[in-house]
Amino acid sequence: ASMLSAALKGGQAFASANTQRKGVTMASSSHQATHQPNYQPTHQPTHPVHLKSLLLLPMQPIPTKRKARVRPEVGAKVPHDVRQRYVNLFVEEFLKTSVTVQDAFEKALTEEKTVYDRSINKLKYLSVAVNALKRLKNQSTVSVKGGTFQSFPIPFPWKGDAALYESLKEHILSEEVLTENNYPLQHPEQAGCAILYREDHKKGITDSLKRICCRCGATYSVNQMGKHMRKEECNYHSGKGVENKVPGGVETRYSCCEGVVGCPGCQVFQLHVHDAVSLDNFVTTLPKPVTDTACPGVFSVDCEMCYTTLGLELARVTVVNSSLQVVYDTFVKPANEVIDYNTRFSGISEDDIRGSSTSIQDVQETLLSFVSAETILIGHGLEADLCALKLFHGTVVDTSVSFPHRLGLPHKMTLHSLTADYLRRILQESVGGHDSAQDATACMELMLWKVKEEGKTKRW
Ligand SMILES: [Zn+2]
Ligand SMILES: [Zn+2]
Repeated sequence: ASMLSAALKGGQAFASANTQRKGVTMASSSHQATHQPNYQPTHQPTHPVHLKSLLLLPMQPIPTKRKARVRPEVGAKVPHDVRQRYVNLFVEEFLKTSVTVQDAFEKALTEEKTVYDRSINKLKYLSVAVNALKRLKNQSTVSVKGGTFQSFPIPFPWKGDAALYESLKEHILSEEVLTENNYPLQHPEQAGCAILYREDHKKGITDSLKRICCRCGATYSVNQMGKHMRKEECNYHSGKGVENKVPGGVETRYSCCEGVVGCPGCQVFQLHVHDAVSLDNFVTTLPKPVTDTACPGVFSVDCEMCYTTLGLELARVTVVNSSLQVVYDTFVKPANEVIDYNTRFSGISEDDIRGSSTSIQDVQETLLSFVSAETILIGHGLEADLCALKLFHGTVVDTSVSFPHRLGLPHKMTLHSLTADYLRRILQESVGGHDSAQDATACMELMLWKVKEEGKTKRW
């Protein structure tokens, strides 16, 4: 998500992409220790669990008798949390066609086991799993067609959310803060179009057939379809310049490769990319009916994007509830041709996208089915995620605002440093890149921590 915020801050296509996800240098020794982040839910429900919530299993087991869990295996070819995610997704599908919950759990575990046995490594696993899920989805759509909201595989907010909702109220961004942080707002004249008030048009180039690469800064030519006219390698440094004291002065080296500033880029990609975002086809969350007195819910959201001929487009979305359960997680097929999966930062592989038939419109429809205008959405730099989702939503809690940088805007703390500082944990950047489920979970945990801390001081 921080990639898109860089794009937004810089005024569409022309931000230096080098601001992405590099605020943290991780000691490699900490990798081992944090390999299985221990997400202890701090907000467990004490009331009878609503059926719909129960169906969606936690990333890490919450003590409950009813669960479909994969057993962790030491040195396994596929990480446990990945397997658990697919078990959860399979359960969702089987629930639509199964008579009992137990039945759905068993079928899901069997399905996942088959996928696992067929896969030699994680990549293969993901590809097989996505296909299996697609098949299950196709089967279950037949049975839920014409169904109502209840048949949707989405949890209702916990009843326990009501107290959290109240505590979070003071963190909801005002219209002024939304504008200041470049949240997409409804264009005053064009319906369904967004306007970014901090967008900087001056940086743009007027020639529509020329683009500036957001990684290396090179200008390149595209045709009417946005496709590259020439195959040109993109060569750049993903890190930033860090000043070091050396005998007799200061020397600046790139954080990515320790190369002296000015040396040829250490990252090489096949093509240049740009990070424009389209501002049309937005949808708006709707006020919930006045007769509905239930708590509108609290969820955290994180998205991953990849580079297409259009610019940056949504490739994955994850929604986590206040019990730290992943309640919605899907890969999304971008509308335009993908140029670069941005795997290093997005964790998205070609197989992920190829196996997905979900469009951004499908995602919007799903989100609107359980996110009302009053629902609190939590995110880190959520403006970028809302832009990627093409969603207007005004009830927002942003960890980059609630945990501000001591220097103020435009400086923002990275989610990594917040998690390290406040939750005493360093988010793992897995080999496959980055994980939106981890980020969404971290955001929820940060806000749970925050309201708990504030609750302590209030009592005094
Ligand atoms: Zn470098
Ligand atoms: Zn480039």
